[in-house]
Amino acid sequence: MPSDCLFCRIVAGELQSSQVYSDSSVVAIRDIAPQAPTHVLLLARKHITSVRELSGADLSIVGAIVSAAAEIAKREGIAEAGYRLVVNVGRNGGQTVDHLHVHLLGGRAMTWPPG
Ligand code: AMP
Ligand code: ZN
Repeated sequence: MPSDCLFCRIVAGELQSSQVYSDSSVVAIRDIAPQAPTHVLLLARKHITSVRELSGADLSIVGAIVSAAAEIAKREGIAEAGYRLVVNVGRNGGQTVDHLHVHLLGGRAMTWPPG
């Protein structure tokens, strides 16, 4: 694991986080700067820099993340009203942490187009 990666350090338990879910491929935490009443980050346990660097062998991790997001949305009570899953990729995508993660946002109506 890259020792300078923020999310690797959170997954390893070296840095404090507010964890809401964990399984063999995913760790989910509350975002430190929430953009909605529910804002959970689903982190791949494995260090993958972004969707750009995703290999065919890692596709099951994406499936596990999306499935965990649906489960967390149910637990958070936002599933029925709906929610948004966001993956920022690279500079124009607004990615600030280079470790694969998906945002789960809910608890309010989202606007479109996104910023
Ligand atoms: P992105 O811009 O898609 O790379 O998302 C990175 C997210 O990580 C942002 O929404 C940040 O608020 C969030 N974040 C940064 N540091 C932490 C942290 N220590 N704990 C929880 N969330 C964090
Ligand atoms: Zn990492």
